[in-house]
Amino acid sequence: MAETEAAKVTFKDLGLSDRVLRALEDMGFEEPSPIQARAIPLLLAGHDVIGQAQTGTGKTAAFGVPIVERLDPKVRGVQALVLTPTRELAIQVAEEIGRIGKYSRIRVVPIYGGQNIERQIRLLRMGTEVVVGTPGRIMDHIRRGTLKLDKVRMLVLDEADEMLDMGFIDDIEWIIQNLPTERQTALFSATMPDEIKGLATRYMRSPQHVAVNPAQLTVPQIEQYFYEVRPTLKVEALCRILDTENVERGIIFCRTKKGVDELAEALQRRGYLAEGIHGDMNQAQRNRVMARFKEGQIELLVATDVAARGLDIEGVTHVINFDIPQDAESYVHRIGRTGRAGRSGTALTLITSREFPQLRLIERTIRQRIQRRPLPSLADVAERQREVLKERLLRVLSRGKLGFYQDLARELLDSEDFAAEELLAAALKLAMGEAEPVPEVPTRFGETGAEPGFVRFFLNIGRAQGVQPADIVRSIATQAGVPGSIVGKIDIYDRFTFVEVPEDVAAQVLTAMQESTIKGRTVNIEPARKR
Ligand code: AMP
Repeated sequence: MAETEAAKVTFKDLGLSDRVLRALEDMGFEEPSPIQARAIPLLLAGHDVIGQAQTGTGKTAAFGVPIVERLDPKVRGVQALVLTPTRELAIQVAEEIGRIGKYSRIRVVPIYGGQNIERQIRLLRMGTEVVVGTPGRIMDHIRRGTLKLDKVRMLVLDEADEMLDMGFIDDIEWIIQNLPTERQTALFSATMPDEIKGLATRYMRSPQHVAVNPAQLTVPQIEQYFYEVRPTLKVEALCRILDTENVERGIIFCRTKKGVDELAEALQRRGYLAEGIHGDMNQAQRNRVMARFKEGQIELLVATDVAARGLDIEGVTHVINFDIPQDAESYVHRIGRTGRAGRSGTALTLITSREFPQLRLIERTIRQRIQRRPLPSLADVAERQREVLKERLLRVLSRGKLGFYQDLARELLDSEDFAAEELLAAALKLAMGEAEPVPEVPTRFGETGAEPGFVRFFLNIGRAQGVQPADIVRSIATQAGVPGSIVGKIDIYDRFTFVEVPEDVAAQVLTAMQESTIKGRTVNIEPARKR
């Protein structure tokens, strides 16, 4: 298979300041992702840019780095505005820009619906260079005069197609019309519907197009599956997979050096024979790890793309993409590490719901379907943790020597303030200490009459309150931090509405929507009963 060495640029080659280089180093980025390598130089040179890229490609830093580099320290006021479809994304983007600007003394404020507006007003009054927000709330602040945009030199529309789907297009236009015309504009979108193209034509100046071009790819014939996982449960999910799959020798890919270190350590803590390898290690260290992997003393090699480049190891049974690769080429390159010399191999990819478009793009580029596999259930994970805790407790018990603790136990039991069961439960919780909490088991919703794979919810608002499908989608997306595009069937009646969402986000949607208001009415949401 062809190596993907073509024109590997470094962040240094992009002409970045030491402050930003140092920040990227701290973030564990080894080299620019394809979209970054193309978009950053254009944006630094002052061009308007249209980037066709989805979550997982590194698009945030593709505009975040130029924002930080192009801020003028002499100017007071908001110089860059980023619009995002959801509050979740606004927070993530603000955090990432904050990390990139760690040594550049910049302030970033996320502004989104659902958060106390007074608090936002106080933050804005204290001064900030970058604002990242959802369109509705940004408009609100502009109207109130609490957000002044006359110093804005750079506008970014992030996930523009998603904002369009959520009915934000008029709001976006209104906001743009309130910005200085002398500015740079960047637009990132996974797809390019006509409305988005129109927006670009009206408000951008000779925009340069950046897409990660699908190259000619030869895809190895190996079994490929993906699992959809919640971001906070990725390690748990991986462990379940490792426990149920017969992994003799596996390479697990992470995006960053930091990710490699953290995951290798997390796996070691859980008793897996795992070690990490990345570009910060010297050659001797890397050789040592590789030798141990080849000899079978390590079963799992946790690696970045850079570290794994050029490795040729026999007998790799599994390649696991803990983080989805940033482009199709990298996917093909990674999975080519298994199933060599006619041996069979398996490639597994973990994705979060936001990364679906990236997975679909990879599928389209390699012209193959990657099959979905259900994750070993969270209930199984919880059950397993219970057992481990029980085993640990019994082990301590069998070793005896409980003197000090036994006296304390007697004292607590004698006080009769608490039941023995409560005391033991509290002690167990204490024993879990810093360990990962037992994952929350999603509520079982029973039969709600939804399409397979979906849960149907009942909402106590409807046509009488002027509710439109876009209101429902927008509210779910902003409150629960999920992409609007995953919302399924919506049936609006006079006084109530049914809406379907995918099973794996159902619990999240239910919790998040409980505090929300739509059209000024507090929403009551509950699982529907099958008709
Ligand atoms: P995004 O597509 O912007 O949502 O980024 C997806 C993830 O990749 C985020 O966790 C980023 O921090 C990470 N990331 C972005 N650029 C790089 C890079 N050059 N190397 C490693 N990780 C990156």
